[in-house]
Amino acid sequence: YRIKYAPFRDERNDIGGIIIVFQDITEQHKLDNMRKEFVANVSHELKTPITTIKSYTETLMDSGDIDKALYEKFLSVINNECDRMARIVRDLLQLSNLDYNKTKWKKVNYSVEKLLKEACLKLDFSLKEKNQSLCLDIEEDIPDIVIDKDGMEQVILNIMSNAIKYTPDNGEITILAKQVNDNVVITVKDNGIGIPEEDIGRIFERFYRVDKGRSRELGGTGLGLSIAKQIVEAHDGDIILRSEYNVGTEVDIILPIKTAVIHS
Ligand code: ADP
Repeated sequence: YRIKYAPFRDERNDIGGIIIVFQDITEQHKLDNMRKEFVANVSHELKTPITTIKSYTETLMDSGDIDKALYEKFLSVINNECDRMARIVRDLLQLSNLDYNKTKWKKVNYSVEKLLKEACLKLDFSLKEKNQSLCLDIEEDIPDIVIDKDGMEQVILNIMSNAIKYTPDNGEITILAKQVNDNVVITVKDNGIGIPEEDIGRIFERFYRVDKGRSRELGGTGLGLSIAKQIVEAHDGDIILRSEYNVGTEVDIILPIKTAVIHS
């Protein structure tokens, strides 16, 4: 609390009392801390690839006669680090557009089945690479949803690719879609490494990762879940994650069924 006080004078200018103001600054303080932590995270995330690029470039410049294979290996490291920075900047720009409501949504009636099948097709290669099985279970007569197709596809892709990334080879990914009251609930389930209980509460925060090393190795930016959450919220929906360490993870994407599409 911030406390301010001032004497209270009556018409004869005598002190008649004191005014005390208690200002709750916890919320302000929390926001300030989050902002500072975010800036520290962005700087750190970008500094790591820059340091690598710099040191590999210097080594290449200093070495006269370098073995061709080694030369190519160094260039490939530099190239990968550039890709990583590009991914981080792309995700940050997207979050910033979402923050400032600059994203232009084109919401249309869309079939849940079509949405899920198209997303699965895009991840077919990653699934096969890890020899993971995919089970798609869509309730019959499930109503259409009103979505921005590209945005909602990105949500599904982010959640599904996490399921693939954080599940070992030969694992099982299941996607369920059903109507629950006035919502369509899409659940992405895996039997992967899971998330420890103490991390679940912070998992939607920007850059929050259970294992930074592992996430980086797998090409993650630590922003996928926060982007997914923001897109779902822009559809008046919600996203919920349940997980058990070493058992698996389930993510519910809850979207309201709206019958009228308002074209703006
Ligand atoms: P990342 O780019 O690191 O995957 P995300 O925002 O998509 O970033 O996810 C944040 C973190 O949540 C991941 O680093 C990982 O630790 C954890 N996570 C997300 N999905 C899963 C999952 N299906 N199984 C286990 N851990 C997960």
